[in-house]
Amino acid sequence: MQQIIPGLWELDEIGDRVHCYLWEWERGLTLIDTGFPTDVHTIIDALTARNMALHNVRRIIITHCDIDHLGSAAKLRKATGAVVGCHSVEKELLENPNRRTPASWYLKPVFALLRQAPQFNVLPVPPNELYVDGEETPEGFTVIHTPGHTAGHISLLHRKKRLLIAGDALHNRGGKLQMPSPVFTPRVDIAQRSVWKLAKKYGDDFDTIVFGHGPPILQNGGHRVKSLVSRIFSSEV
Ligand SMILES: [Zn+2]
Repeated sequence: MQQIIPGLWELDEIGDRVHCYLWEWERGLTLIDTGFPTDVHTIIDALTARNMALHNVRRIIITHCDIDHLGSAAKLRKATGAVVGCHSVEKELLENPNRRTPASWYLKPVFALLRQAPQFNVLPVPPNELYVDGEETPEGFTVIHTPGHTAGHISLLHRKKRLLIAGDALHNRGGKLQMPSPVFTPRVDIAQRSVWKLAKKYGDDFDTIVFGHGPPILQNGGHRVKSLVSRIFSSEV
């Protein structure tokens, strides 16, 4: 487990395919995303190795329903007794993860086939809490609805810590700040507008950004997102 800033840990034990995070605060632990279905035991072992009691995980926030973010949520909820929260629009997909399909039609049968294998089978996770845009969670996160990659995708802003947990609204693969892959982003136009919103409405409120994919940005995050947005939208005119 690696500390990114005080209070925020990355569960790097699960490897580099996806990142999930642990928020440590005065009322316990909050898990943000849960890795693939096969990551459950690694996450439990990582908590135990740090003497973090499982029952101290009180909340699991899901940025969106993809297999690499929702994968271990059902089993982790069972192991910890935590409540699970997501955006109100994402509720349907948490309850029916198999309804999530890639944007490209030719990948749809591949996805259907993969789901036959237990390691790719995401268990449904009916959420206990539903969030709306602008809502503040007890941990101090402002929920920002950032649709496009999925319809109910959220990013989380902690203003006091000047931290943005981007989820898959943005990627930093290979250290290059960019939009998520269009293959898995059915509405690229809406995803771009979401990043525009992050820049225009919240761009002065964060320095650190952590991602579902790619290493964290530790400085000038708001500025970096603003630059990306000006590149995206100037290339369209
Ligand atoms: Zn992802």
